[in-house]
Amino acid sequence: MNLTIEIDAGSGFCNGVVRAVRKAESYLSDHDRLYSLGAIVHNAQEIGRLASKGLQIIDAEKMASIHDDVVLVRAHGEPPATYDLAERNNITIIDCTCPVVLQLQKKVAATYRKVSAKGGTLVIFGKKGHAEVNGLVGRTDGNAVVVESVQEIDGIDFSKPVALFSQTTKDTEQYAALTEACRRRSEEAGGEFEAFDTICKQVAARHEALAGFAASHDIILFVSGRESSNGNVLYNLCLKHNPRTYWIDGGQIPEGLFHDGESVGICGATSTPRWQLEELYLHLQNKIINKQ
Ligand code: SF4
Repeated sequence: MNLTIEIDAGSGFCNGVVRAVRKAESYLSDHDRLYSLGAIVHNAQEIGRLASKGLQIIDAEKMASIHDDVVLVRAHGEPPATYDLAERNNITIIDCTCPVVLQLQKKVAATYRKVSAKGGTLVIFGKKGHAEVNGLVGRTDGNAVVVESVQEIDGIDFSKPVALFSQTTKDTEQYAALTEACRRRSEEAGGEFEAFDTICKQVAARHEALAGFAASHDIILFVSGRESSNGNVLYNLCLKHNPRTYWIDGGQIPEGLFHDGESVGICGATSTPRWQLEELYLHLQNKIINKQ
């Protein structure tokens, strides 16, 4: 079978994840074990690779039982309570919070102080329970309102000041629509409204490029862990621009997918390592082109 295969040039880990993985590998090059609070990346194969070097994923409960050790904080960041716990338990933190997330945490904290002084609300457009979102909510003493859709803004008092932020990996079009809806409600209620452009620029640029990439191929193989928030956003983006988009998690390719002469695009989320895309590329070349 004759197929043209292309890996999306913009796919692979984002800078924040590259930085976190490098720091973990650097530490593990001369230590046997490193705890990571939560999955360093939402990708089972990459987690497996790092686990073989000594990375151990722990949850908050386990961290509470650890003393005098070292724990990595991943690119998503953590709420202040995690740092307080580390201090109490004499835990050294290898802080891999992405610099973009760090700036966002500071901006959320400063804005919350201003808005709450006037009885207003700080709203975060994000996935409830997501680590980055929890880290941001932690900068508002737990008082930020997290919304996942326009339908969820009904309970917000727009007669008072409202400040809107977005999780860094959310969809730009959805955030623009939410911003517009909040602005309208605020005008109707005579309140004050401010929206902050906090979607990661790397992610936003990737959205635009990926839409074109998806549309330019007959079939798209989208590689990502199912639990990746960014993976869900980018998969749906590809699907919108190419209905023959298939989610590949763990390398399983559905049978009878390809027809002779078609072009196949391989891409992934910000949590998908480049090596996984290259592995799929080689797999397609060896197994499908040569044997069908
Ligand atoms: S998506 Fe952007 S903000 Fe989030 S970790 Fe990656 S580089 Fe940082």
